[in-house]
Amino acid sequence: MSRVEPINKVSVVIPVFNEQESLPALITRTVAACGRLSQPYEIILVDDGSSDDSVNLMTAAARAAENHLIAVLLNRNYGQHSAIMAGFIQATGDLIITLDADLQNPPEEIPRLVSVAEQGYDVVGSVRAQRQDSWFRKCASRAINRLIQRATGKSMGDYGCMLRAYRRQVVEAMLHCHERSTFIPILANSFARRTTEIEVAHAEREFGDSKYSLMKLINLMYDLVTCLTTTPLRLLSVVGSVIAVSGFTLSVILIAMRLILGPEWAAEGVFTLFAVLFTFIGAQFVGMGLLGEYIGRIYNDVRARPRYFVQQVIGARPSPSTQEEE
Ligand code: UDP
Ligand code: MG
Repeated sequence: MSRVEPINKVSVVIPVFNEQESLPALITRTVAACGRLSQPYEIILVDDGSSDDSVNLMTAAARAAENHLIAVLLNRNYGQHSAIMAGFIQATGDLIITLDADLQNPPEEIPRLVSVAEQGYDVVGSVRAQRQDSWFRKCASRAINRLIQRATGKSMGDYGCMLRAYRRQVVEAMLHCHERSTFIPILANSFARRTTEIEVAHAEREFGDSKYSLMKLINLMYDLVTCLTTTPLRLLSVVGSVIAVSGFTLSVILIAMRLILGPEWAAEGVFTLFAVLFTFIGAQFVGMGLLGEYIGRIYNDVRARPRYFVQQVIGARPSPSTQEEE
């Protein structure tokens, strides 16, 4: 096994969108939790275009030097994952921890995440013990988790929990991805070598409502699926081909029956019409599937993800002079 890189600094990245009620407690609890770390730390609060008092609270906290707090202000609402990315650019730590601002993830778990990461993990995820969310949200999460497990090959029980720790090199690889819509926990897993999960407490949202409206949630789900694969597009051509073949077979059968059993059986031409229709519908689906294949490839090129990601290079590269000595 490769040598475990030491963690000399910890960065905590928190996206904030209209969280003025949670912020004071969030800041004191996070600063206290980070104070218990043996490493130096920094807390990066990213304002995702809040319209309430969040910005003032954040800037005031950032001005107090003893907090080790940085406030990053975005001009408008870009969404949770984009806000986290903006925080990643500022982060200088060897281990970067993400956290929700609404105190559903207890900041007190930060030292535990750090100590688990120190055992040599690139990504430390978290599973919510007794998740405090609605039944509908829980069911949706379960279905999505299963899908991701199949696609990434990395087994993680809970992708929705944002209390996570990432090693510097994983974050840097994510910053090299050019796509506009991302789902960070999944993207991170595609660049990680060793991942693990710990169980953390999950509290109910104390102040305000979820910042995810139904539309935002649907959008997030699409981000998640498209971040993973272009399989849905490929599915279009598979399903299209099946429909085309069965449509064509059906039309051949209809025409054959019409010829054998006569026009009365075919309801005076109606069935023949259907036969023609089936053929055209099939052809249409094939065309759509073909388009899907092209779009999938264009999408992959446009987001220009690194083709591979070298985690570590061990041992000196053989230069021409050393090669002779071998
Ligand atoms: N958030 C954000 N921008 C958004 C929506 C949410 O930065 O457009 C932040 C929000 O302030 C919180 C985190 O993302 O820190 C998670 O949001 P929320 O708690 O509303 O999501 P839920 O827990 O309902 O999934
Ligand atoms: Mg929440």
